[in-house]
Amino acid sequence: MSSEPSSPNQLPNQPTDINAARKFAVPNRLAGKVAIVTGASSGIGQAIAIRLAAEGAKVVIDYIGRAEGAEDTSQAIAQAGGTATIVQADVTKMADIEKLVAETYNRFGRGDILVNNAGVEKGADFWEVTEADYDLVMNVNLKGAFFLSQAFVRRLIAAKQPGRIINISSVHEDMVFPHFASYAASKGGLRMLMRNLAVELGPHNIAVNNVAPGAIITPINKSLLDNKQQLQALLNNIPLGRMGTSAEVAGLVAYLASEEAGYVTGSTFILDGGLIRNYHEQ
Ligand code: NAD
Repeated sequence: MSSEPSSPNQLPNQPTDINAARKFAVPNRLAGKVAIVTGASSGIGQAIAIRLAAEGAKVVIDYIGRAEGAEDTSQAIAQAGGTATIVQADVTKMADIEKLVAETYNRFGRGDILVNNAGVEKGADFWEVTEADYDLVMNVNLKGAFFLSQAFVRRLIAAKQPGRIINISSVHEDMVFPHFASYAASKGGLRMLMRNLAVELGPHNIAVNNVAPGAIITPINKSLLDNKQQLQALLNNIPLGRMGTSAEVAGLVAYLASEEAGYVTGSTFILDGGLIRNYHEQ
């Protein structure tokens, strides 16, 4: 993890800036709450975990693969006096989903906030997409969010407790993404899942919202960040003229996770520097 780039378009070597993730934290806004964040060993998920902890939540850091990333997240939280625990759980596996929720309750005795952040993308021309790649993208981005939300909600309903679910979708829940058809389909599915659950779970006092980022500096965009020409073409389409940061996404998530957002459910919140609105007549 490194420091914030000195100018917005100067890219950092590493994705998550701990200080930026905490900079605007509202102390104690999430005190007493327990939050599960999936894919919290890197990028946006890491910043969200750090931000929620900085606002007083106890955080469950879910990860697969890189244990060092989860350790980085945990250490950053501990150094600031926060509380977190790490659970390795693949959101595409039902047994892991059950384990993630069970360990949350074993460790902290409750669950209040679920952030479905884990996501993958696989680029290919539509006619070249393999079944394996399609399954991976849909299983992580949509099935994982679906069944983890189900496991999370079952506990809340049984205990008659309120809760908040935030899905990290994408501008591509609405905006086309040629050569990434499975990704766009998965995020579009997440949009309707959120709307459906907001209505079905509202009577149980469980709120569901999506945060839809545009182009954010994280590992998922490595090939884009490495390709100066492609990057410049993208920046030309962003009215604010820069990519966003994980910390900026985390700030919106913290608000949606809090009681301050008590009347907010069933909506997508776009965070994209104006990208999605940027259409010009010739
Ligand atoms: P990232 O690659 O750093 O984060 C994705 C995380 O998901 C990783 O930590 C990865 O290990 C985890 N993950 C993948 N498969 C998993 C599984 N089966 N179980 C548990 N965890 C799994 O990239 P990011 O940009 O931080 O992406 C986070 C989310 O934000 C994703 O859902 C992505 O689609 C979304 N998003 C990112 C951008 C962007 O520009 N970076 C834009 C829009 C939406």
